[in-house]
Amino acid sequence: MQKLKNGFARLMYGRNGVDQLGMATIWACLILDIVSMFLQRRAAVAAAVLYWAAMVLWVLAIFRMFSKNLYKRREENSRWVQMRWKFQSGRRGAKERHADKDHKYFTCKGCKTICRVPVGKGSVEITCPKCGMKIHGKT
Ligand SMILES: [Zn+2]
Repeated sequence: MQKLKNGFARLMYGRNGVDQLGMATIWACLILDIVSMFLQRRAAVAAAVLYWAAMVLWVLAIFRMFSKNLYKRREENSRWVQMRWKFQSGRRGAKERHADKDHKYFTCKGCKTICRVPVGKGSVEITCPKCGMKIHGKT
């Protein structure tokens, strides 16, 4: 067993291994495989497409795992981690805004800044603090 472990360690030496992007790719493969299995009887063509998409992702995941171009693989991974973080924090923010019953939130059409206004003021005109655009809304 120890020998096997050492052999594996030697094989993986200097290689990328499984990072967050690798894990995400493997999960995506599994999900695609499962969905494709379910679709097989109802939509054979869609099932085949998903099956091949999963295959391509598997190859990609294995390629990244054994890749020796660590610099490039780390760059890809950090881009993925950052994207996921942005998405998650955006969703968390939306949840918090939804829970806030005392304020109404308006998104500026000009610069996408979110402006907060107390509820119960009737029709209001808000000036965006960032770009100065006027937003009309009901609170
Ligand atoms: Zn604005």
